[in-house]
Amino acid sequence: MAEEMNKFSRELRDDDHFHDECGVIGIYSPGDTGIARDIYFGLHSLQHRGQESAGIAVNRYGNIDYHRGMGLVQEVFSDDRIRTMQGDIAIGHVRYSTTGASLACNAQPLVVFFKGGAIALGHNGNLVNANILRDELQDEGYLFQTTIDTEVLAAYIARNIKDGDIEGAIAKTMKIAQGAYALVITSGEKLIGVRDPLGLRPLVLGKTKNGYVLSSETCNFNLLGAEKVRDIDPGEIITIENGEISSMKFDFGETRKTCSFEYVYFARPDSVMDGRSIYLARHECGKNLAKEQPAEADVVIAVPDSGNVAAMGYAEQSGIPFGIGLIKNRYVGRTFIQPDQKMRDISVRLKLNVLKENVEGKRVVMVDDSIVRGTTSGQIVRLLKDAGAKEVHLRVACPPVTDPCFFGIDTPEKKQLMAAKYSVEEMRGMIGADSLGFLSVDGMKDAIGLGRDNVCTACFTGDYPMELPERKDK
Ligand code: AMP
Ligand code: SF4
Repeated sequence: MAEEMNKFSRELRDDDHFHDECGVIGIYSPGDTGIARDIYFGLHSLQHRGQESAGIAVNRYGNIDYHRGMGLVQEVFSDDRIRTMQGDIAIGHVRYSTTGASLACNAQPLVVFFKGGAIALGHNGNLVNANILRDELQDEGYLFQTTIDTEVLAAYIARNIKDGDIEGAIAKTMKIAQGAYALVITSGEKLIGVRDPLGLRPLVLGKTKNGYVLSSETCNFNLLGAEKVRDIDPGEIITIENGEISSMKFDFGETRKTCSFEYVYFARPDSVMDGRSIYLARHECGKNLAKEQPAEADVVIAVPDSGNVAAMGYAEQSGIPFGIGLIKNRYVGRTFIQPDQKMRDISVRLKLNVLKENVEGKRVVMVDDSIVRGTTSGQIVRLLKDAGAKEVHLRVACPPVTDPCFFGIDTPEKKQLMAAKYSVEEMRGMIGADSLGFLSVDGMKDAIGLGRDNVCTACFTGDYPMELPERKDK
């Protein structure tokens, strides 16, 4: 089994990733001299959605000033630069891209010019037909400056604007752009939000004292003094102009497919998405996991921080006491996390240490949110055993990840996904756990609570909610 694990490990390489994870925010607040500062704080709260680049664009009477760079939000902006960014409307973006696409020119928001002015655009998600659309534009002579899907969208929108009708141009573009997207756009005197026809990527509207905010998540609303108004509907374009909200639908499809992985791992637990608290959904995942995959044990521990909430749910349901078994070093810099397997293995020990007092001589249930490549879990089980844990029962608060995401969550290719290659029993052996249990697809759907048909579960089932014309892993 160890040999098999080594072989599998060697096949895992970060540079095969090809998807983006992002967070977006937009604020409409006329006369507010602190708008760029608020975007900065709002982005800071969305930092978990992307750590590689950050950008802000500020719109003053249709003129757009922008600043983008590689790094964390606090590394990209200085106080002085934020102070110079003045306007009535602003948008911001954080991005985690993968090695191949890690270029400064790909940072967002993107700013493009058309006959009647400028548009700034921030995009979270992934188009599944971007290359087809890009080829079409290139055949017509368009010269692309970046390698991101967002520029394809921006170019089509700019080309489609007739008589200043931006929403019409967006609607026309969205009819041919397939995939997942939450967009924040500013142009003229408007702040515009757009959500894809299935609502795969999140976007929510809040009301502030002075205006409105659009954000990927609600976790920044308290900080911004915003009250949640509502989630943007799938297939909706929402416009804020002159302090008024207007809305149009470019797609009237009945299906909604919110991303289940947002609830399992990606979003912050203090966000509410499509009306459902991420915290409560995760807690319920843990409870359902305890019902479906019980274990005889003395203590339930979490893999921090991603497994914390589910572990508490597991403990509550099972009656086994919750304990802290692993301490996380929160200051492990990104420099440590080099994209090769050897560094990844070392980085687990840099990041986590066992609290011996809670695991020595005990039968431990270890709850994690998900297993993707399976390398982290094996390392942690070894740490626990080395510290004297008698048994380690690994419980995973989502189903096995068997298929890649094509809609904006950075999962590796299929060949790198442990559950795509191995059975649960084989995985158990490779990880070195005494038992291994996953939450079922229905158990997860019920915990999310949006209705079994209303969530995307493609990375757990291979059942994609749309055609994939450019699928790269066939
Ligand atoms: P591994 O199985 O070694 O790939 O690690 C899985 C762990 O990585 C999970 O427990 C999550 O906490 C975290 N994780 C899951 N999905 C992602 C993702 N898309 N990007 C980064 N980390 C992730
Ligand atoms: Fe979310 Fe998975 Fe669907 Fe991607 S495939 S949108 S990660 S549920």
